[in-house]
Amino acid sequence: MGVRDRLECLTQYESPKYVRIQSVTWGYVQCLLYTTAALSICCIVIIHRLYQDTEEVSSSVRTSVKGVAHIDNRIWDTAEYTIPVQAINSFFVVTNIIKTENQLEQSCPEYPFPKAICSSDKSCKKGSVDIHSHGIQTGRCVNYNATVRTCEVTAWCPVEPVENPPVPAVLRSSEDFTVLIKNNVLFPKFNYTILNIPPKLNTSCTYNKITSPLCPIFRLGDILQEAKENFSEMAVKGGIIAIDINWDCNLDSWFYDCSPKYGFRRLDSKDVTPGVHFRYARYYKTPQGKEQRTLFKVYGIRFDVLVFGTARKFNSIELIKNLGSMISYFGLVATAIELAIYIRNCSCCGKSPFYTIIDRKKYDTVLNPKQVMYVSHVDEPHVILIKKPLKTSLQHTEGSVVESHPVKFCETGSFSTSESNENHDNEEYELGQPLRQESSSPGCQKWCFCGKCQPTEKYHEQLCCRKKKGQCITTSPWFRQLVLSSHTLKKALLYKDPFLDMTDSNINNKLRHLAYKQYVHWRFGSFDLEDRAVIPSCCRWEIRDTYPKAGNNYTGFPME
Ligand code: ZN
Ligand code: ZN
Repeated sequence: MGVRDRLECLTQYESPKYVRIQSVTWGYVQCLLYTTAALSICCIVIIHRLYQDTEEVSSSVRTSVKGVAHIDNRIWDTAEYTIPVQAINSFFVVTNIIKTENQLEQSCPEYPFPKAICSSDKSCKKGSVDIHSHGIQTGRCVNYNATVRTCEVTAWCPVEPVENPPVPAVLRSSEDFTVLIKNNVLFPKFNYTILNIPPKLNTSCTYNKITSPLCPIFRLGDILQEAKENFSEMAVKGGIIAIDINWDCNLDSWFYDCSPKYGFRRLDSKDVTPGVHFRYARYYKTPQGKEQRTLFKVYGIRFDVLVFGTARKFNSIELIKNLGSMISYFGLVATAIELAIYIRNCSCCGKSPFYTIIDRKKYDTVLNPKQVMYVSHVDEPHVILIKKPLKTSLQHTEGSVVESHPVKFCETGSFSTSESNENHDNEEYELGQPLRQESSSPGCQKWCFCGKCQPTEKYHEQLCCRKKKGQCITTSPWFRQLVLSSHTLKKALLYKDPFLDMTDSNINNKLRHLAYKQYVHWRFGSFDLEDRAVIPSCCRWEIRDTYPKAGNNYTGFPME
């Protein structure tokens, strides 16, 4: 392979071949489908905004709750009812409380849960601790009240009474508290930052879904109402509420829109262990120097601020990328039409001639040349394709007809013209003649119908010029003129090489090979078949006899 061959790919372009089917129906179908495909691509690109690059939001959240309540002669301000929580982007508002005051470290009766109830000291075990107990048992059984006796414990006394939270909730008026949410968002890819507080914000506004949807100050009661929850009901045991901030930003200057949308929903289950509660204590010292505490069990609502969203901006690379992936829709149209034509043909009983033509035009069958042979008989109007390996003589092997034959064959009748009449006596004579050279076993000549073929053991050489008994093609004047005539062959050789030395000793070989070629072109028509076209034994030997090779060792038809 030369450099030139290798560089050939740079100097040429190979275009796929198409078959144009002249049909009004399929033309309209194609037009309609292509239009549909083009429209759907446009729609998809616009609806899904495939012309834009996207980026997820990065954000930070700060909150501040405001409000004061006066309950049971006590003022509850921000420091009292908001408790910092560990989770990021969350705040906790106390709504209900169980207070156990003046607890001291000493011994006292345990709260009467089933395992703590006793009848005598024997039921209590010194030093034992239960998961429900408030302290360590001393081993004594004492009166909890007038009717119940429980084991005595060393604990913070008096122990907290385990009971349900008060109804209605102590701090139910926190419904009117407000929270300001400051949310900074950042889209690093587009180098764009924005705050959820509009620059011209009226600081006395309150969020309302319809009237002021951009106000970042929320009344807690409204939040729960939006989440379809009842505040006073939820205040008793507490719960978790999500405040969703959704940023869907279009940063293209001609469609600019970047403002948050707020949504509210309850996160904890209303039916299975609802509520949020925990305990904390405030410690102080008595005048005697003993440590004392007030224990609070608080119920409240935790608000989780969840920020999500994307920003979009026009990007030509995105557009090209997405369009490129959708061009395949057009390929789909072609496939759909092919399929439709195929189904339509299948539904018609039998193969329609129209489809047969399409099929033939569309597919060029390429066979491995080493596995096929082409055969042409003078009394049959087509070339036959025979696939290897041969199990019997080539003459008797069944093959398939090669339909697309470009050469018009003469009718068998018209072929035997005046010449055949002339040769009629001759033919009889030829048939009666003993076959040339080693014609010892007449059995091997079962494949010859012209009487001029040579016996051979090789199946692929056992081929006659005829399918049925009759005159040999070698006796025809056309064979002499087109194939054998040294005048014609020499002319052809000189045509190729005007200065060819006709006196060369090798000239016979050249003439013989050209005669083979002439025969193939005459009888097979196509140059494509040249290499694998088999010349019948009679013709081959007629050519060999006319232009013999020194030593008589002919190569024969290449089988491998
Ligand atoms: Zn024959
Ligand atoms: Zn023959």
